[in-house]
Order: sequence, then C-alpha cells, then structure tokens
Amino acid sequence: MKKTVDGALAAAPLAVFANRAHSKEDESASSLEEGRPDGRREVRLEYLRPREIETAMSECAVLFQPLGTIEWHGYKNNVGVDALKAHRLCVLAAQKGGGLVAPPLYGGVGGLDEPHTFVIEPENEVHSVLVRPWIESLCREAVRQGFKAVIIVTGHYGAGQQIVVREAAVRMSRALGAPVLGTPEYMLALDADYTGDHAAWGETSLMMHLYPGSVDLSQLGEAPHKGVYGRDPKKYATREDGEKLTRVIVDRLAALSKRMPNWGEEERRRFIAAESALVDRQLEMMGETKNAWAAWRHIPKGVFAGYGGLLAEEKFEEIIAMVKDL
Ligand SMILES: [Zn+2]
Repeated sequence: MKKTVDGALAAAPLAVFANRAHSKEDESASSLEEGRPDGRREVRLEYLRPREIETAMSECAVLFQPLGTIEWHGYKNNVGVDALKAHRLCVLAAQKGGGLVAPPLYGGVGGLDEPHTFVIEPENEVHSVLVRPWIESLCREAVRQGFKAVIIVTGHYGAGQQIVVREAAVRMSRALGAPVLGTPEYMLALDADYTGDHAAWGETSLMMHLYPGSVDLSQLGEAPHKGVYGRDPKKYATREDGEKLTRVIVDRLAALSKRMPNWGEEERRRFIAAESALVDRQLEMMGETKNAWAAWRHIPKGVFAGYGGLLAEEKFEEIIAMVKDL
C-alpha cells in the first residue's frame, strides 16, 4: 500500500479491485479489508463494537455520511464510483480529524441515461420524496445517538442532488441545533481545479488513488468516451492527481470534523447563514432561469474557488460575500 509523508492519505487496496487474478497480495488485502484496513483506526461504524463507538464519540462526536448511487462511469470505472469515492474520503478524513463513518447510501437524485444506472429520483429536480427524508431521518437519529455534528459527502452530484442534500443539511442544522454540512466532495477542492466532472479526469484520478487497481483505462476507446463528461481521463487521469485532490478534500473535511462538534451557537448560526445563502442562490437561479445548473455557470471560471478553504477556516461571511457572484 502507498505511504505518504504524514501517513494520513495512504489508500489501502481493496481486495475486490486489486489484481483480479488471485495472488498472495490478494489474500493479505482481503484479510485487511475485512478487519482493519491499513492498520489505522477503524472508523467504519458498522464494524465497531459499542465500547469502540463510545470511545470514538467521546473524542470526536461527528458522523460522516457518504452518499452515492449506481451509475455508468465509462467503460474503465466501476458503477459504484460515487459512493465508493465519498466513503473512502470520509474514512480518511475521520482517521485524520476524528469521527465515525456510516455505511454509504447507494441511490440519489438523478443519473445518466446510460446502461447500468439506477435513477431513484428524476434528474435536476428538487422535489425529493426519498433522498431528502432519508437524510433528515439520518441526521435526527445521529443527534439522538449523541453525535454533535454530521458531515454528508455526496460523491454523486447532479444539480438536483446537490441542492437537495445541502438544503436538507441547512434545515437540519436549524431544526436539530447541531451543525450538518451537506456537500459534494469537489466543492471542497475548487481551488485545486477540480470543479466536478463525470467519470473524467477528476473522478477517475480519485479512483486511481483511492482504490488502486479499480480503473482500467485500456477499456476506453478513442474520445469522445460514452457517458464521460470533462477532461479526457485517458489523456489526463493519474494516480498522482488523485492523491493531490484527496489531500485537499481530506484536510478540509478533517479540519471541519475537529471543529464542528465544538461550535457554539454563534458559530453554528454563522455556518448556517453561509450554507443557506449558497443553497438559496442555487434555488433562486434555478427558478429564474428554469435551469437547475444556472448557479454553476461561473464555477469553471474560478468563481467560488475559495469555498472549501473558507469553510474549513470558518470564514463564513466571506462565503456569503462570494455567493452573489455565482
Ligand atoms: Zn460520479
């Protein structure tokens, strides 16, 4: 497995992806995955016993909730990219900053009109009757269990999914009196030139780093690639870029995980004001233009690039000031 300088971002190869042909390496990866991946702290909620949960929560009472779906991600990627990517990023963030990680949810708002894709709710709609109540119940239960903050990371991000997730998080932050962040992972790395793509450079690079052996670029023909949107993964995707993006995203998630459970009412209010301003703008522009993606039109030009850093540093008023440029 890959070791980095601080040891924080090493990704354990998962048995299901690493070297499909059986080998000794497979066996060790398999036993590691079933027990304690890469020897670091187990943070996956479903693998823990009660006392382990209590110890972890006494140190950092944050619950990470990864979201994704089953969706075509090109011939070279598996169809679980969104949830797998979000889950692994949450695990690394919890190991670094504290907190526990709930099992990922497969199923969301939207999905491509491509094979092997489950569209649970319609694309680019915000009238969610499945994802929204699920998120709200999850948050309510997390707080009832004693978690003091929830961080929802969606690896699946049509406009509808993003709006529903962030809006539900804002609403629950208010209603439960505990901060809930609901964001796609790429929004935390806009300043690393990752403005979100579909199965292209960004997502594919992340998968190459987070799940070594899971990407088979040789299965891609010549561009344009079916159901791939963004920079050509065959030309540009690298494990090194995946590691860079992972570092940015995980550092910010870990910083939030350390701080969010300690926020007082004042910080929570300021956080809610910023997140609310962002999702209000996304909704308003959707209403005005009849285009769910309207509030994203300037993001590839660098507008809003500071969001991830400002959020992690609790500079909420600066986020509010940027929202009007979307
Ligand atoms: Zn994706």
